[in-house]
Amino acid sequence: MTKSPKIQEAVKLATKAHDGQLRKTGEPYIVHPLAVKKILEEWNMDDDTIIAGILHDTVEDTEITLKDIEEQFGHDVAFLVDGVTKLSKARSGMKNLDSYLPETSDNLLKLLIATGQDVRVLIIKLADRLHNLRTLSALPPDKQKKIARESLDVFAPLADRLQMGRVRVEIEETSFRYLDPKRYEELKKLTEERLKRADKKLNNARQAVEDLLKKEHIKYKCDGRVKSIYSLHKKLAKYDQNIDRVYDLIALRFIVEDVTTCYLTLGLIHSLFRPMDGRVKDYIAVPKQNGYQSIHTTVITPDKQVVEFQIRTKEMHDYAERGLAATFFYNEQKLTSAYTEGRISKLPSHLLWIKELQETAAKLASGEKVDTKKLKLTLFADKIFVYTPKGDIIDLPKDSMPLDFAYRLHSEIGATCTGAIVNGKMVSLNTKLHNGDIVEIVTTKNSKPNPGWLDKVGSKHARHKLLSQLHALFPNFVANPDPPTKPEKKK
Ligand code: MN
Repeated sequence: MTKSPKIQEAVKLATKAHDGQLRKTGEPYIVHPLAVKKILEEWNMDDDTIIAGILHDTVEDTEITLKDIEEQFGHDVAFLVDGVTKLSKARSGMKNLDSYLPETSDNLLKLLIATGQDVRVLIIKLADRLHNLRTLSALPPDKQKKIARESLDVFAPLADRLQMGRVRVEIEETSFRYLDPKRYEELKKLTEERLKRADKKLNNARQAVEDLLKKEHIKYKCDGRVKSIYSLHKKLAKYDQNIDRVYDLIALRFIVEDVTTCYLTLGLIHSLFRPMDGRVKDYIAVPKQNGYQSIHTTVITPDKQVVEFQIRTKEMHDYAERGLAATFFYNEQKLTSAYTEGRISKLPSHLLWIKELQETAAKLASGEKVDTKKLKLTLFADKIFVYTPKGDIIDLPKDSMPLDFAYRLHSEIGATCTGAIVNGKMVSLNTKLHNGDIVEIVTTKNSKPNPGWLDKVGSKHARHKLLSQLHALFPNFVANPDPPTKPEKKK
């Protein structure tokens, strides 16, 4: 990949902008954006993503504006930085969001739709979180726990969704270590003991398979993988804490040239060792939901050792470890534009959701009507997501205005509303809100709602609250029960 001089420019700009700021670790702040840059480079991301990674904290924490970034680095970089900035804000509002949409449990999907028109935004955010986790020791314990919890609940599943297995594991292990240090150490010791005990028998099994593969002239790479502490913890909870029932504590992984050789290797392994009943899993023919592909088989060796073998191609291995980032590597270009411009015609089917997501998000943002059946987005199609100044996400029906937002926060805030500030500018109360707007309500004590507001609410909720307040204020008040503007769409 060519390294553009723009990357050096971005480093210069960020260094200057963050000058004088310190991290909690006591280091100069620029250490953090540079670490994010390094992670994104390790993931082989494109230049725009790397530049946006370097600049990801500048808009929020320094004098630099999005406009500056757009002028110097172009629209794409500015778009990515803006996305990351909004995502940080959205993050803190996720719990709230959940209580507003109890119908769905998929927090991630909401987060994605609210912010992710470009999946690279999420990848930058993951790199950002990864570095923050790596330096978590600098924070006070209560903050450590909070960040660890959130990483485990939100960012690990996100990495999984993007099929970035290696990143997911690092996030899980680090978070778990902070959340439950005692348990972490306990399980670590347990794993090490088991490994030591099985070492010789494992080596025998591995040697036997390698000898046979060589005899058959099959090219392979072999490594051992030890189950991560966190996934062991989860598995033990399922198996009454009985570690003897965890068969894949250690697995031997064989990476071979192509799919046919995968099945051939499976056959050879079974010719050596007896497979356990119901323990052959063909995730090549039927990939896991996140797209993971591999063949797993658990066997019993002659010296009574239970061993799991995992067989896959190099490409499958790369996807399992690096996921979406691997896609960028293979394509060496931006996924989004490569798609829309038709430069790549095919993406692995497990990544199609990203394409659909991006298309849906783009349509939502431009106010287009969206057919969401395929992506289970029915809930979002008629909604917009806006932010409070503190960063909480509030979801509102499309066509909502500031009063809808005010009544959603609290009916008293609605009743005493005297103005609204959207994205830092004072606006009139009949201004339509858009996805991503930051909305602040100005209230004046003892101020009262008035009947003219009925034209300035778009949501049923706000209309209902407003009507009951108007009835209380004006006993003779009669209102048309239907909205005077266009009727609300039915689900
Ligand atoms: Mn950051």
